[in-house]
Amino acid sequence: MTFTTALDSQLQPDLSAKVAAHPCYGKAAHFRFGRIHVPVAPKCNIQCGYCVRKYDCPNENRPGVTTKVVSPEQALTTIRQAMKADSRMTVLGIAGPGDPLANSASLETFLLAKEEFPGLVKCVSTNGLALPERVEELHKAGVTALTITINAVDPEVGQHIYTHVRYQGKTYRDREAFEILSANQLAGLKEAVRLGMVVKVNSVLIPGVNDQHMVEIARVVSALGAYVMNIMPLIPQAKFKDVIPPTPAELAAIRTECEKHIKQFMNCRQCRADAVGVPGEEDCSTDNSCTPKFLNDQAPMNLQPRKKV
Ligand code: SF4
Repeated sequence: MTFTTALDSQLQPDLSAKVAAHPCYGKAAHFRFGRIHVPVAPKCNIQCGYCVRKYDCPNENRPGVTTKVVSPEQALTTIRQAMKADSRMTVLGIAGPGDPLANSASLETFLLAKEEFPGLVKCVSTNGLALPERVEELHKAGVTALTITINAVDPEVGQHIYTHVRYQGKTYRDREAFEILSANQLAGLKEAVRLGMVVKVNSVLIPGVNDQHMVEIARVVSALGAYVMNIMPLIPQAKFKDVIPPTPAELAAIRTECEKHIKQFMNCRQCRADAVGVPGEEDCSTDNSCTPKFLNDQAPMNLQPRKKV
């Protein structure tokens, strides 16, 4: 199947080359290349209804979980070890456990890594609230792959997904919170595309809340230049703990509809904030712990937790 949007003819060839070795942008690279997630970002500036962030939890493989939070310097140690242990590492990603753009350590880490590992693809995953004010500095720090989690583009839907947004020193709730978040997500997306970043849009599929809205999200983000969309099934917890997640058939049907507007990434494993390695090779077989295989054999790193926020 081919995927053609209005922007494809101008942007697609160049963008495809930029993420050819990124395991989270396409199936071909997913099983061949590795990513190094460094958990340097504990703080978050919003509260999604489905999110529970956990530290020191080796038994859950989902976003928002990390064994420890590390400093930028400690993250560099992880990167050096990972690069030495596995030549398939191509991507440095910051994906939490909070929002990378709500933590200055994220930019510090990218700047350090840019010096020492200029060949690594720099990737960041954000809720997008701070994107308009941060996207330029991310670009200057060498970030070329950007993921924005967009779960709605309509306040009628979005107001039910987020509990609050903390923006420029003030806390907003309900519809007002969503309107600020959404405006920044879409403006940030547009600017990231203008700067040449390859943008993936993650959307959490919440049955009964935004399932009928996914196609509209696909249409809007495609028109703004997003490269690929990743629809992820809800992991029921927090406010949505009693929602029954979509079945594989429901997920597939919605992806098929959205694919008419934007290419779909279907291999996402909803990784932890400290995942390292080729996706799917984490060692979950024995004790349900997802420590990367190549790190299992090494002495523990001397990592101190950052100050609690
Ligand atoms: S942006 Fe991520 S860390 Fe922040 S509340 Fe949402 S899911 Fe949780």
